[in-house]
Amino acid sequence: MIPVDAHRATVAALMPAARRVRMRLAEAAGRALADDLRAPISLPPFTNSSMDGYAVRAAEVHSGVTLPVAEDIPAGRTDALVLAPGTAHRIMTGAPLPVGADAIVPVEATSGQGFDATHVCFTGDASAGQFVRRAGSDIEAGEVALERGTVIGPAQVGLAAALGVPTVSVLAPLRVLVLSTGSELVTPGEPLSPGQIYESNSVMLAAAIRAAGADAESLRFVPDDVAHLRRVLGERLDAGDVDLVITSGGVSAGAYEVVKEAFTGGFADVDFVKVAMQPGMPQGAGHIVTPGRRRVPVVTLPGNPVSSLVSFEVFVREPLRAALGLPARRPRRTAVLAAGVQSIPGKRQFLRGALTSTDGNDSVIAVGGHGSHFLRWMASADCLIDIAPEVEEVVAGATVTVVPLAD
Ligand code: AMP
Ligand code: MG
Repeated sequence: MIPVDAHRATVAALMPAARRVRMRLAEAAGRALADDLRAPISLPPFTNSSMDGYAVRAAEVHSGVTLPVAEDIPAGRTDALVLAPGTAHRIMTGAPLPVGADAIVPVEATSGQGFDATHVCFTGDASAGQFVRRAGSDIEAGEVALERGTVIGPAQVGLAAALGVPTVSVLAPLRVLVLSTGSELVTPGEPLSPGQIYESNSVMLAAAIRAAGADAESLRFVPDDVAHLRRVLGERLDAGDVDLVITSGGVSAGAYEVVKEAFTGGFADVDFVKVAMQPGMPQGAGHIVTPGRRRVPVVTLPGNPVSSLVSFEVFVREPLRAALGLPARRPRRTAVLAAGVQSIPGKRQFLRGALTSTDGNDSVIAVGGHGSHFLRWMASADCLIDIAPEVEEVVAGATVTVVPLAD
């Protein structure tokens, strides 16, 4: 058996580099910038008012002074205006400062006639520069607005849009193909005969892949038939638009292990290994070589649903996100174990756990025991409890490492 970290390194080494792609801003949120984004214009692009009020020469403004209002400048007025000495212009937030003006007096600092009048009377002094937003005071044209590698969120989208940038160059989501195997599997919604179960791994893994930031496609799952699997997969991969394949099932030690049997010879070059962990001992990773001689990386996950999802979490999620330039490693923390658990010696355990936080103290309880088929418990867990291979028992009250699973 090999350690968890060794197999994760194998999977990481398989991960293809993400392509760069130009995306419209609205679609780019959640992706990493592939290049520095330089500001094509300054922000603000022109000097403007930060208040509704009056554009003035500050030196002319004192308490009790009245000036004639010569012009009205709403936001969006594009002609260049000049402020003659001894006058004021009525001006709105975001409107360009007229030439000659050096300050804004907010309407609140005037008295008497209000906004409709032909004159304005001030209630105090003004200082040069007050309530004026200088061109380039946020960012100057030519500066790096967003650095390569920045993950684009709402604020970054806002900045790019303010700079007039409609599209950005980002790391494209890897395209991951999911393939479930098993002659017992039936599509949800169809009738179930005795001995059959509903297929859950392909939608589950596709959801996990999308949550990790990649694109997922579920191929119609295949029965435990080597020729069938090779044909379906080979045909799909020869289209050339799949970056990574993830299979589930058919990799353990029994008979009818279709993935193990199909991914040999000329069809694939995959290392099937036993990883010292529970759940998820049987794993594999390598390349499929399609009939058209394409080499496509593949990770083969075990079929038990809990094993499958935990294996994705432990081996695939981090390298996949790293390839996409996204924060990869889940933050880990410690919690106090609420009820003792047994652990299999020699295997690293990833128990499903439910966290509770009271007054900043985290406690965690293992839910559902060791069974790799207990999907209901996986669905009620919000973390994995990570127990080192050498540990055989953890008593209630001990501190354990947990990996919260929320995205
Ligand atoms: P396998 O790894 O193919 O031996 O499957 C192990 C267990 O997981 C068996 O009980 C399978 O029926 C079940 N299983 C395998 N693949 C799936 C799947 N895609 N959806 C639900 N259960 C599965
Ligand atoms: Mg199977």
